[in-house]
Amino acid sequence: MRLPPKLCRLSSSNVRRKSGLPASCRRVLIIASCLALGFAQTSIAQSSHNEQLSTCGYKAVVVIYRGTAELAAACDALNEVTAYFRAIGFEAAPVVSVEFADRPADDTGAHGYFDRPGARVVVYRAGAVRPWSLSWNLAVAASFLRHELVHAMVWRVGKEPNRLPREWHEFIAYAIQLDLMDPNILERVLASQADVQPFDELIAVNEFTYGMGPEAFAVAAYKTYRARGGAQLVRQLLAGKLVPPVSHPPH
Ligand SMILES: [Zn+2]
Repeated sequence: MRLPPKLCRLSSSNVRRKSGLPASCRRVLIIASCLALGFAQTSIAQSSHNEQLSTCGYKAVVVIYRGTAELAAACDALNEVTAYFRAIGFEAAPVVSVEFADRPADDTGAHGYFDRPGARVVVYRAGAVRPWSLSWNLAVAASFLRHELVHAMVWRVGKEPNRLPREWHEFIAYAIQLDLMDPNILERVLASQADVQPFDELIAVNEFTYGMGPEAFAVAAYKTYRARGGAQLVRQLLAGKLVPPVSHPPH
């Protein structure tokens, strides 16, 4: 029932600089989270910043949250993304920390980020942008949490994820994010980019089309995904059975 040493070590040494919390406080939280997992508790005591910890029932997950709505959003996202990958043949329990955080004033990131070496997803409570003209709220934040969790799962279960160019990692993350989106929100997302068409060819998924901006790229990715088999397209990509053509060397 112990957190894998890697996650404990990386999390504790990778104390957030952007969280707004003092490093010492954050360190206590992380240590507490490792202890929580060690004792297989699903929820433990509050910190002095009213942040609580949970595992959502997973052995190697830590959720840092405030209030039951954030906890429910995190557990729903973890469950949905895990189920999505299980359904296409990739059974793997998530190994990740999920953190809701207040957005630092000096952070240029839009909605949060995925820290791959630290196996950590951070989602901001307040967004710097209005993606697809949506007001930032917990439902929208939870949608981006799914996006970041998909990134984490692709790196965890993909055959050779480092062979996928960044644009393809984003293609998969946006396509599944929209696929798992609340239908009412998805309708507004699609309406905001009504002129965006699917990519004609897979080679059109590249750094240039990615450069057209995340809102349009996401919708083009989702429409392409839907037109080309949906989850089965992702399965083929992750299994290495479909190698997307690239217009530049993979990173
Ligand atoms: Zn992404």
